[in-house]
Amino acid sequence: MPADFSGRITRKAYGKINLALDITGKREDGYHLVKMILQTVDLYDQITVERLEEGIVLTCDDPRVPTGEKNLAYKAARLMIQTFGLTEGVKIHIEKKIPMQGGMGGGSTDAAAVILAVNELFDLHADTDLLDKLAVTLGADVPFCLREGTYLAEGIGEKLTALPDAPHGYLVLIVPSFGISTAWAYARADEMEDLVHPDIAGMVKAIEKQDLVKMASGMGNILEQVAITEHPEIQAVKDQLLQHGALGAMMTGSGSVIFGIFDDQKKADLCFETFKGETYGKFKSQL
Ligand code: ATP
Repeated sequence: MPADFSGRITRKAYGKINLALDITGKREDGYHLVKMILQTVDLYDQITVERLEEGIVLTCDDPRVPTGEKNLAYKAARLMIQTFGLTEGVKIHIEKKIPMQGGMGGGSTDAAAVILAVNELFDLHADTDLLDKLAVTLGADVPFCLREGTYLAEGIGEKLTALPDAPHGYLVLIVPSFGISTAWAYARADEMEDLVHPDIAGMVKAIEKQDLVKMASGMGNILEQVAITEHPEIQAVKDQLLQHGALGAMMTGSGSVIFGIFDDQKKADLCFETFKGETYGKFKSQL
């Protein structure tokens, strides 16, 4: 996206959902090895980046979002400035739409958007390989967020294989009143036994065959089993989505957002209305 005349770049930082998430092991440094199917969704934060004489200034319309060094977008800017020895700074503004602690990769996608914006704004011409290497130092999901579409993610989430776009469907996304910390979810998974592993290969096949029914009914997230032990409400939301015609319903990432997949827009709309706005945040999207 070219900078406008004022040298300012605005990007849509898209959120993601997991169509599958499995833990396959643990590295010596404590990172979990995973196998996931990640899908971009049409719910995004709006990120504006412009040049500044020096330093990094970050603002956000949502007061709950940290604006200092703890913000992943701030860290992304600092990494780009240091890596490329930039003598200027950047000003970043985030319009937050992606729910926080939702498992939709909000922080990761903001960081990815800043990496791409700085690359563009300062004519750095860094290639995908280099940007991926920088991105993964900020978080395992950040390389995926440099892209859009449907990907198989392995390693700690950074080894990406492009899949065909997921078959077309309608999404209802429900945001419970509580968030879930990613660190908590993985730590709890380590303590639990008998967790059921999703059939990722079967999911990949369903996507390749563009079989929405098989894909939606085959979804599985090992962290959902963990989260339900603490928040039984997740199961109640899933049941409500399924009772109203979802082909499949699942928690994304480490939660707490839960989504249902529908083959019919009317069904999705009717289901959406059954979730009362005073209890839940809710969004519609499409695959
Ligand atoms: P993931 O799906 O990658 O596990 P998540 O969607 O569960 O992440 P986020 O909303 O990305 O969680 O962020 C969780 C925490 O990270 C927040 O509580 C917040 O304090 C911090 N944070 C840092 N940078 C950001 C950002 N740009 N947007 C939102 N939260 C951020």
